Amino acid sequence: DREWPRPDHCRVVTIANQKGGVGKTTSSVNLAASLAMHGAQVLVVDLDPQGNASTALGVEHHAEVPSIYEVLIEDMPLDDIVVPAPEIPNLYCAPATLNLAGAEIELVSKVARESRLRRALDAYDTNKFDYVLIDCPPSLGLLTVNALVGGDELLIPIQCEYYALEGLGQLIRTVDLVKAHLNQKLRVSTILLTMYDARTRLAAQVAEDVRSHFGDVVLNTVIPRSVRVSEAPSYGQSVMTYDPGSSGALAYSEAAYEMAHGGAVQ
Ligand code: ADP
Ligand code: MG
Repeated sequence: DREWPRPDHCRVVTIANQKGGVGKTTSSVNLAASLAMHGAQVLVVDLDPQGNASTALGVEHHAEVPSIYEVLIEDMPLDDIVVPAPEIPNLYCAPATLNLAGAEIELVSKVARESRLRRALDAYDTNKFDYVLIDCPPSLGLLTVNALVGGDELLIPIQCEYYALEGLGQLIRTVDLVKAHLNQKLRVSTILLTMYDARTRLAAQVAEDVRSHFGDVVLNTVIPRSVRVSEAPSYGQSVMTYDPGSSGALAYSEAAYEMAHGGAVQ
């Protein structure tokens, strides 16, 4: 069996791309599940009002559930909202409810509006985790900015399709602004190519472009398009438990293995 090293401090990894449907949530959930299944303690922070990550982890997130909204807006401690994901030991979730949809506006008038997640994480004992993965909504608004200020690392999922690189410039400019003013530590540590369709020349071309542009932060593992991956959330599961032998589960496991080694493994 291969070794899955555990980091010597908690790695806070923000998973962002303002484009919707590129695999942010799917990657957050399945990378987290895979790392947890290999012995790491992992927390997924769901920062999308849709709560798709909470759903996929089998965690309740109706309006009465204390959620990341209360943390960001009402200063509730993270400790009061974090719950275990029922399917997988070592895996935890800070759920999102639809209330969070209002947070984007409510944050505007709050003190330290960009740093509220960072403050909540600092006040929380994150060192009981090896990884905190933050799943972002599809925008560059204050919720995503909070995730960029709260994280040490940024993982960008890129879907292998025609417009893949469009908008990345804007994301990188936002990252540079956050770095300059709010979070010096932030770095783009990982790029993950998702929904790869090996039958198309276009997917190969996009992958090549991304690799020549971003170099060795791009993981060698590419996530294939797989029906099992898209089915899993409706069963409140990651694909790692829903169908562990599927091509999607195997690929996410490989990607998580690379992450555990700090980046692309040859
Ligand atoms: P985002 O969080 O960036 O909006 P999602 O992770 O929700 O994107 O993915 C968008 C849609 O694509 C979802 O319906 C998801 O189930 C599906 N999907 C994601 N990754 C794959 C994959 N590797 N194969 C097939 N479907 C996928
Ligand atoms: Mg999502």
